[in-house]
Amino acid sequence: MRVDLRSDTVTVPTEKMRKAMYEAEVGDDVFGEDPTINRLQEMAADICGREAALFVPSGTMANQICVRVQAPRGSEVILEEESHIFLHEVGGLAALAQVQTRLVKGVRGILQPQDIAPLFRPPGDIHAPKTSLVCIEQTSMMAGGTIYPLETIKEISRLAHEKGARVHMDGARLFNAVVASGIPARDFAAPVDSLMFCLSKGLCCPVGSMVVGNNDFIEEARVARKLYGGGMRQAGILAACGIVALTEMIDRLEEDHEKAKIIARAIEGSHLVKPDWNRPETNIIIFSLREPKAGELVKKLADRGVLCLDLDDYRIRMVTHKDVSFEGARYASEVLGELLQ
Ligand SMILES: *Cc1c(COP(=O)(O)O)cnc(C)c1O
Repeated sequence: MRVDLRSDTVTVPTEKMRKAMYEAEVGDDVFGEDPTINRLQEMAADICGREAALFVPSGTMANQICVRVQAPRGSEVILEEESHIFLHEVGGLAALAQVQTRLVKGVRGILQPQDIAPLFRPPGDIHAPKTSLVCIEQTSMMAGGTIYPLETIKEISRLAHEKGARVHMDGARLFNAVVASGIPARDFAAPVDSLMFCLSKGLCCPVGSMVVGNNDFIEEARVARKLYGGGMRQAGILAACGIVALTEMIDRLEEDHEKAKIIARAIEGSHLVKPDWNRPETNIIIFSLREPKAGELVKKLADRGVLCLDLDDYRIRMVTHKDVSFEGARYASEVLGELLQ
């Protein structure tokens, strides 16, 4: 048995997606003439209850576009110290947007309003950069797929707006949060100025992310997308999968969450694991070993057909998705349980 828990990005497109690709009506999207992309953008805006959306090649580009448009060069962006935008986007904040970062440790990856409140730079200080943006991550990947409570998002946005700053939500796994919490995407999307979500992870598309916001913002995002080389032509072939994803791949994320809970049972109570790990709320499991032997455990798991990642010497990450069966999850749980004895 082979169970690939390295990432939900390994998911392959469904039969329906392949058919939709074949049949997709296309046009030149840089001219705004791809009917399939236009339809996907309307659907994404609608599902998030916002005015407009933009199809982009990757989640990284989506985030970088959102920061670029909303954070002026030399301004300061507040983000969680293990956020994807800070850790895993190749220094794009410095290299592309040219902003300064203000890192904050969250609680279970979630920024706490009272912790960021004092960090907004006071206006009129000639020495200080302007605080332009706060970035939040839904779900919070490095904390183990934890969900930002809606009230926290509202409070962070209220604070930021009061201080003349904006809020961007890296919602790479927004729909995992939606399904797990029962809170509609439009509720999570309402308080923020921009958001993005990935089509290419649990939603199983081969390529693509959506940037969502109001009309003015999306117009600027379209320019930034072109600047970053993300203006595509007959990409309706890809957007066709996104339409299938938004129509029928959201509800099934619930299964991924169940599979994560099955695997998590193997970790519970192991004397080799630090007890303070975050029990999975969605499709990501991250736990820390007491000894710096994560690489070793990943190898032993791989020998038994269970693939996962070590994040550092202590931490292991496992991600469930469509292409892990329930049987696979039970097998992974069994093997992990044995190795953690
Ligand atoms: C995967 C991911 C991204 C970036 O998506 P890519 O399509 O891989 O560039 C951004 N943020 C989070 C939290 C992610 O997990």
